[in-house]
Amino acid sequence: MQCICGASILADDKFCEECGTPLTASKPPTAIDKCEKCGAGIDSEGYCCQCGFRQEPPVHDWLEVIINSQLAGVSDRGLKHSRNEDFLALQQLNDSQPNILVVCDGVSSSEKPDLAAKTAAETTCLALANAWEIGENSASAIKSAFATALANVCNISYRNSGDLEPPSTTIVAAIVQEGIATIGWLGDSRAYWISAHSHQQLTQDDSWLTEVVAAGKISEAEARLSPKAHAITRWLGADAVEDAVPSIVKFTIPDSGYLILCSDGLWNYTLDAAHLANLVQRSPDRDAIGISRTLVEFARNCGGHDNITVAVLCL
Ligand SMILES: [Zn+2]
Ligand SMILES: [Zn+2]
Repeated sequence: MQCICGASILADDKFCEECGTPLTASKPPTAIDKCEKCGAGIDSEGYCCQCGFRQEPPVHDWLEVIINSQLAGVSDRGLKHSRNEDFLALQQLNDSQPNILVVCDGVSSSEKPDLAAKTAAETTCLALANAWEIGENSASAIKSAFATALANVCNISYRNSGDLEPPSTTIVAAIVQEGIATIGWLGDSRAYWISAHSHQQLTQDDSWLTEVVAAGKISEAEARLSPKAHAITRWLGADAVEDAVPSIVKFTIPDSGYLILCSDGLWNYTLDAAHLANLVQRSPDRDAIGISRTLVEFARNCGGHDNITVAVLCL
């Protein structure tokens, strides 16, 4: 195995000895108590007592990244897709700041979407850390990190079959320091701010729905009914190089609360930011990994039709 810095690592290493990057740990979800197929009980090995269906997804389908109690995330295959095409990368530099969060959702209609998402997330995380270390301001760090990620995604070799687009992914990334979150994105993976006093969606989807509603062409209710509602209008991929200029917002952290990045596998099941805030407030565990697991579990309980990825920074 290799760290993103190129150094070799062992399967159970928690950190890369060369660059200090925290390494991802894999762990199956713990809250499954009924068979996904028949609803019967599960034995201690994760097999259904009645039909024998194995409940635990293969380990790479459930990815947990835990930096510390404040910064963590989960990416899960969900219940319907055969593989996880989402990915996340997290990093905390210099003991306390800045914090870096990246969530990517590979575009299903492209070749190797899982690799596109992993490449984009890892490249962006590393490039943001490097840019910060040389003193680049956060907005230009995001732009240059996305450009590096795009170049790496464009370098993924693929079989040009004609049916599928070149490897592509959405991306949302945040760099948080001194009470300011700078967030960049392409596509419909989102960032939210959730606290006891306020909650809001910080990103605006690059999607057909958001664009026609913003242009005043049709109402949101009408747009939601269209089969195009979920089509994204911007992404990272070789077929969108000119369009891959990220939207960037700066958000001043108003009080203590949670910065949450997620893929549509979560937000599709939430009504709005208030609903997400409610789920967070009801989480039995209030640390970053506890909230991430709670939100992923919520999406699985809603049907888990898509891959689900959540990254949480407690502030
Ligand atoms: Zn069963
Ligand atoms: Zn998705």
